[in-house]
This record gives sequence, C-alpha cells and structure tokens, in this order.
Amino acid sequence: MKTKEKNSRSDRSPRSDKKSSSNSKSVPQTEFAALGLSPKVLAQLDNIGYQTPSPIQKKFIPIALTGRDVTGQAQTGTGKTAAFGLPILEQMDLRLPGQQALILTPTRELSEQVANELERLGPNTLKLAVCVGGRPIRKQIQSLEQGAQIVVGTPGRVIDLLFRKELNLDQVKFVVLDEADRMLDIGFRPDIEKIMKRCPTERQTLLLSATMSDEVERLAKRFMNEPERIDLSEKDVANKAIQQYYISVDADRKISLLAKLLLMERPQQVLVFTRTKRGAERLHKTFAKKLKNISVIHGDLPQPKRDRVIKDFRSGKTRMLIATDVVGRGIDISGISHIINYDVPEFCDDYVHRIGRAGRLSSVGKGQAFTFVTREQGPQLTEIEKRINMLIEKYEIGDYNPIRPRPPKNY
Ligand code: ADP
Ligand code: MG
Repeated sequence: MKTKEKNSRSDRSPRSDKKSSSNSKSVPQTEFAALGLSPKVLAQLDNIGYQTPSPIQKKFIPIALTGRDVTGQAQTGTGKTAAFGLPILEQMDLRLPGQQALILTPTRELSEQVANELERLGPNTLKLAVCVGGRPIRKQIQSLEQGAQIVVGTPGRVIDLLFRKELNLDQVKFVVLDEADRMLDIGFRPDIEKIMKRCPTERQTLLLSATMSDEVERLAKRFMNEPERIDLSEKDVANKAIQQYYISVDADRKISLLAKLLLMERPQQVLVFTRTKRGAERLHKTFAKKLKNISVIHGDLPQPKRDRVIKDFRSGKTRMLIATDVVGRGIDISGISHIINYDVPEFCDDYVHRIGRAGRLSSVGKGQAFTFVTREQGPQLTEIEKRINMLIEKYEIGDYNPIRPRPPKNY
C-alpha cells in the first residue's frame, strides 16, 4: 500500500525560509553576510534572488574563505556550486586576466551548468572558458587566449589543452574537483593525476561530492592539504524529501508496468533511468509511439542534440525523459516530480544520484521515486537499502500484477 508520509519535511531549500525572506528588503542577505562575504557579492546574490544560504553553503563558505582546503559532501541539488564558487570569486583577483581557477567536472553538461552558475554569481566582467569535449576546441583556445580567469572543464579536454600547451596552469590558485565520486566512476583518476601535477602546490583545493567512497577519500588524501571535512549527507533527511518505492516485476512486463504507472501517477515530469544506451533507445521507441513530449538522452547522441533535449526538459516542454546514468547525472533539474528506475542502477551510489533529482530546492514538494526490481535483483535492492540506510517500501498497483501468475497445474 502506498502510504502518505506525514513527516514534516525537513526542507533544505533556502527558499522555504519564509521568516528571513519576508524582511529581506530592509536587511538584505543577513545570513549570507554572516558567512563573511563582501558587500559586492552580497549585492549580486540579492540580484539573482538568493536569500538564504543552503546548509552546505553555510558550512562550506566560511571555511573556504580562509583559504583552507575543504571537502564537502551533500546531495545533488543542494547548492554546492555556489558553496565553492563564492569563496573563489571572493579570493581571486578579478582585475587580473588569466587562469586563476580550474574547476574539473565529470561531464560537459555539468561543466556548462557550473559555468552558468558562476556567471550568475560573479561580476559581469568575469571571464570564463568552458573546456569540454564535443565542442570546438578552437573557441576554447580563443577564450583561454583572451584571458579566461576561470577554466571549467572535463579532465579529458583539459589534458588535451595542456598537452597542446594552450592551457597553462602555473598561475592557478584554486582547483575544484566537482562531483569527485562521479569523475572517479568514469575513470578520470589518471587524468586528474596528470592535471594536478601541473598545478602549483601553493593552491587551494576544494572537493565536492555527493558520496565519499574510499576512492574519493584517497583522492582527497593525495591532492589536498589537511582538508576540513564537511559532511551533510544526512541520509535520512535526504530520504524524507523523496518518497521511495520499489515494484516487483517480471523482466518482460516492465514496459507494461511503466505504461500503467504513468497512467496512474500522471506525473508532472518524469525522468526514467535505464542502465544502457540501447535500453534507453528501445524504451524511447516504444513510448514515443504512444506519447508526445517524450525524449531520450545518452552519451552516443551528438552534443547539440543533448543540449536541446536538456533544454526542452528543463523548460517543461518535454514531460518524460529517458536517460542513462552518466548523462542523467548531468541534468541539473531539481524540480522533477517522479523518478523511475526502469532498471536497477548498477552502482548503489547511482541510486542516490538518480533520486536526488526529485523534489530538491524545488517547488514540487515531495518527489517520488519508483524502482523496478525483478526477482533476481532482490540482492541489489538490499544493497541499495543498506547504502541509504532505510528500507524501501513495496508499491502495489491495485489489480494489476506485474508478476506473471504461475501457469495453472494442467497447463
Ligand atoms: P549541486 O551542485 O549541489 O547539485 P547546484 O549548485 O547545481 O547544486 O544548485 C542547485 C540549484 O539551486 C541551482 O539551480 C542553483 O541556482 C540553486 N541555488 C543554489 N543555491 C541557492 C540559494 N542559496 N538560494 C536559492 N537557490 C539556490
Ligand atoms: Mg554540482
């Protein structure tokens, strides 16, 4: 049975803080000001409508402003970009041209989102270069030559530019490893090593991650100088914001189950995760016949197509998006009402990232996540439950049985 959870939502959205926002006209940015940010930055935050720092921002910013190395762990959609971005903008010399900060992210989309957010947070004179694969390298070289002050990019392209001697990191004072767990998942560790070796040892290194696996810890140990650790993973808080269910299903009934679920839930917007690119394509083909406003995204699609798909989903034009993990991770859209794990994620951490898309810093309130689990996948579900430290509730759909009934005896 589906139960309505009555827990008061421990809302981590800065926007939910009505008390401080109602008098924010007379005393703007008090909570941001308390973090030690300068009037210029505070004015800019006011401009873009940030009224209250999120929990990770509250903890991360004051320490990062001192120049210390910091690691920050918090769920997706909790404002980690501003957490590392604001202290860097405060400390760098905005009058000087040239590369002062390097920010590494796992995907093109994430690099672009980080760059967009920094553009909003910084002065309009700020010069950024986004150095990612799948985009013309010429233009990137041009932005570097024109004195880009912050370089945001994926390790592969950054290495490429380094080896071509188009990028010089000698003057870099700030290095950020954003979504460190995912960069390691993708196998960027050797690239990160090479890049870090080219950065001056006198620097501030900030690391952000939704999860802190042993591997991430090793990365921090190797490249950071006695980092201060901030852990806001707060697993149960994360879980309260999203109602999570699993549904037992036979593999060959997943499609009909998905159809049924969509019909019942009529989601405002739904993100459906598959494990493979081919699986994503197949599902898209099936549902595109019946539904409009549906799209698919995975790593094999050309970049312009991926951009368009994300843009349409963000604007609400697309209501159902089918995605694989690597690309799905790059979708910074937090107001999604429904997440459906059509395939159980391969890694437990992916589960956390997937459902992190629902209901965060958003207006939709509580999001819902459904995970389709076949009989053989029981142990995987258990692993996920261990990872999130709670039991996922079973969801029953009225008279529809996604498990094939046993054949009658005389069959
Ligand atoms: P994360 O990196 O933790 O996944 P982001 O930095 O991408 O999160 O932020 C998620 C969303 O929240 C972005 O759209 C961002 O503009 C918004 N945001 C971040 N901080 C604040 C804030 N203090 N007030 C309002 N919105 C914020
Ligand atoms: Mg982020």
